[in-house]
Amino acid sequence: MLIRSVRLVPVGRGSAPTWGGEPVDLRLADGQVTHVGPTLVPDAAERVLEVDGRWVIPGLWDAHTHPVMWALARRRLDLIGTTSAAETERRVRERLHGIPGAGLVLGYGYRSATWADPPTTAGLDAVSGERPVALASGDGHNGWLNSAALRLLGLPPRGGVLTEDEWYAAYPRLEALDPNAADPLPALAEAVADAHARGIVGLVDFEFGSSWRTWPEYVERGLDTIRVRASTYADRLAEAAAAGLRTGDRLVEGHDLVTMGSLKVIGDGSLNTLTAWCRDPYLGAQGRGNPCGRANLDLDALIDVMAHATSQGLSAAIHAIGDAAVAATIEAFACTGATGSIEHAQLIGWADLPRLAATGITASVQPAHLVDDRDVSGQWWGDRTDRLYAFRALAEAGVPLALGSDAPVAPLDPWLAIAAAVHRSGDNRPPWHPEQALTVAEALAASTDGQPTLGVGSRADLVLLDADPLRDADDSGAQAAYLRAMPVAATLVAGRLVTAPPG
Ligand SMILES: [Zn+2]
Repeated sequence: MLIRSVRLVPVGRGSAPTWGGEPVDLRLADGQVTHVGPTLVPDAAERVLEVDGRWVIPGLWDAHTHPVMWALARRRLDLIGTTSAAETERRVRERLHGIPGAGLVLGYGYRSATWADPPTTAGLDAVSGERPVALASGDGHNGWLNSAALRLLGLPPRGGVLTEDEWYAAYPRLEALDPNAADPLPALAEAVADAHARGIVGLVDFEFGSSWRTWPEYVERGLDTIRVRASTYADRLAEAAAAGLRTGDRLVEGHDLVTMGSLKVIGDGSLNTLTAWCRDPYLGAQGRGNPCGRANLDLDALIDVMAHATSQGLSAAIHAIGDAAVAATIEAFACTGATGSIEHAQLIGWADLPRLAATGITASVQPAHLVDDRDVSGQWWGDRTDRLYAFRALAEAGVPLALGSDAPVAPLDPWLAIAAAVHRSGDNRPPWHPEQALTVAEALAASTDGQPTLGVGSRADLVLLDADPLRDADDSGAQAAYLRAMPVAATLVAGRLVTAPPG
């Protein structure tokens, strides 16, 4: 394919425009950019795509997703933005009327850490009666079930929510009872098409269970347009070893887009569930159990499982949100020589930054969460918000960054992540710790899976844009609004159009 008349957007800090910023033609062949020049002559059989001076960037990646959860969440009771248990219950009561049948109803997206009224089983029972209702928190770390749902799972009666391991055990059982979940492919295909329309060419998949087992089936049934790195959790590590799978291996014979990813370990909890593991107690949490949050596994166990993964050729992706968890994760990478990423790295000790940089691992961060967490972290971590989502400090220390959404925790939209990294506010308030903001060029570079400005030898993963993402704006707020509305004209994966051609 010959793409005629595109402007190559320079990607990365300090990278200069190539070709004087003038439009050029690109030739794509065998999954690569093979020629770049001002006027390439099409071969006889070559398809020509006229794009009239539009801008082009390397394909965008979301470095942290749960694709099936995200696809199914798009079809559930939406509880995002509720500000109290009472309001959430009201919303459940109103929406339950409209859902036919008497079966399980799943909801998603409440965040209770700042609520004055804690979520209770009795409160949910009062609006749902005998119909089983199970609500998943927006951070994915706790679940709120009514009595009928508890009975459905054979769990004993309880006063409040399920958290962490107990919730992780319950969640897949609930999902198995969801009629949409019986075959998630239609919902997933629709969600992937939406992602392509925002410029996404690849996903890092941290689905619970073993997505490396499910993707081959999705590909064989036709969902073959997106790059995926599918991870495994520790309980399936031996199974992956028995299958001889190493990071980077193809999961489907003859299909290069879906490959084996990393071992995923959830090392601590989250801020919203007050389980992220910190060096200092949460403010006002004295007298609670685990006032500093807690580790989900001790350092020896973490080192052990990472050493196993390393010896079988797998990289590691370790979830660490609190500063104590981040420090333990750095220690475990240093001890084992594992490669890979630290997931989230939300709260970081300044003294740990050089040690993190020395490991060479990537910080996989989710900028849109800082918008969601601004108020809750003021309440619980008000004494340490300067060390939260410290993107600038990470970049300056030499830690490679990769942006993502943790969808369904935040919408799978790379432009939302880029805008939040640049502006650090989701409303009319000024940016929160603007000293930690990234430039647009840096945020883009952290979204392209390491691919620099397009040139000969680049992957033929391209996003054509109707506007210049690097255009100057009056202030970061205007820039963020512009980026969130970025018009994507077309997306190509491995040289193939995966959206409609540009109009
Ligand atoms: Zn996640």
